[in-house]
Amino acid sequence: MLDLTNERTAWDRDHFFHPSTHMGTHARGETPTRVMAGGEGVRIRDVTGKESIDAFAGLYCVNVGYGRHKIADAIAAQAKDLAYYHAYVGHGTDASIRLAKMIIDRAPQGMSRVYFGLSGSDANETNIKLIWYYNNILGRPEKKKIISRWRGYHGSGVMTGSLTGLHFFHNAFDLPRAPILHTEAPYYFRREDRSMSEDQFSQLCADRLEELILAEGQDTVAAFIGEPILGTGGIVPPPSGYWQKIQAVLKKYDVLLVADEVVTGFGRLGTMFGCDHYAIKPDLITIAKGLTSAYAPLSGVIVSDRVWQILIQGSDQLGAIGHGWTYSAHPICAAAGVANLELIDEMQLVNNAGSVGAYFRESLASAVGGHKHVGDVRGDGMLAAVEFVEDKDDRTFFDPSNKIGPQVAAALLERGVIGRAMPQGDILGFAPPLCLSREEADIVVAATVEAVKAVL
Ligand code: PLP
Repeated sequence: MLDLTNERTAWDRDHFFHPSTHMGTHARGETPTRVMAGGEGVRIRDVTGKESIDAFAGLYCVNVGYGRHKIADAIAAQAKDLAYYHAYVGHGTDASIRLAKMIIDRAPQGMSRVYFGLSGSDANETNIKLIWYYNNILGRPEKKKIISRWRGYHGSGVMTGSLTGLHFFHNAFDLPRAPILHTEAPYYFRREDRSMSEDQFSQLCADRLEELILAEGQDTVAAFIGEPILGTGGIVPPPSGYWQKIQAVLKKYDVLLVADEVVTGFGRLGTMFGCDHYAIKPDLITIAKGLTSAYAPLSGVIVSDRVWQILIQGSDQLGAIGHGWTYSAHPICAAAGVANLELIDEMQLVNNAGSVGAYFRESLASAVGGHKHVGDVRGDGMLAAVEFVEDKDDRTFFDPSNKIGPQVAAALLERGVIGRAMPQGDILGFAPPLCLSREEADIVVAATVEAVKAVL
């Protein structure tokens, strides 16, 4: 295999402005450059031929695994037939129309239409605009505030970065605060009062939400957005009763619910949508990543009948909706989406995510859960996290300068497995492709045991 490492490393260091990267250490050559070249299934390799099991599926997106020719062929065929035409004023392609139908067929009950974008961030920007438009059409111009949760992740745009409740994404950007508000994260492991049961803590989260709505004025609060299970904020499943109690508050004050299913959509929790898994009845759903398994960039907002009826009234009053992206429903991306959803069905990946996911999480918990610096092993479906603590009883944090999460992730990589040091806290995250087998799960767990031992 051709070793391009030195030349590519120099070009990379001198010209490539990477996302979510320390610019100084990268430019000085202290952050290693890894040039990725190919992959099959859960395995990915770089240009030097070094292979890793990607137990984070890229950025929780390569759900069907790498190297799936069915999707590559669909992309190539679409590119040859018609690489592009826009979707404005009723235009579509066979792929985009079929994909819209496939999504609604799989979506939770009561969903009606799909608006396509390219990234989770732009889909959430669309959500914000639709929520404001909806309340304007209903004659409620004051009802505009959107509540998200601390530790939620909803993107890196101007408004979506503001929705995101992680300080790392706010640093020195002057993102607009209004009209975005944040409420309690459903982070049971880090609850202040350790004597609380999961149900009591869920009630506390619902009470805090209600207090916020009342303090702001119910006529000013338009929507609540949440991931069914917190992802980038630390892979934190909701405590029991959480969604039921939150939805009761939202209903009481006529606040729309946006389920951000960018990570959970299309099978990751062992059900087609996270909403099915936690009995969430959303007004809007954000989708991206798993829609194409990242073979091409594509996102969407799934709009419920309830919201759709008002949007139609809007067009009847104001004309065509003034919101469009050049690449909305891009034919190549839509073709990738159709092939990807077919593959998910053919390979029965939703079931596999549920069964192998449970096996993986249980193995991980029994292998590392007893370690004196492992405070929590948690997750749901094909999502898992290990949270490290300095003191197990008090759950004290390590001094951040120790960078325990990144150190364990680096030790894991040395052992041939990619996990992710989550951006806030000493948390090692896993979100393997949904095709992970039990044997591959065993390899990931064994490598994690060794990595934890090496660092702690
Ligand atoms: N919403 C959630 C829940 C996400 O996890 C992400 C990305 O990780 C986004 C939105 C933003 O998606 P993108 O990075 O495609 O803009």
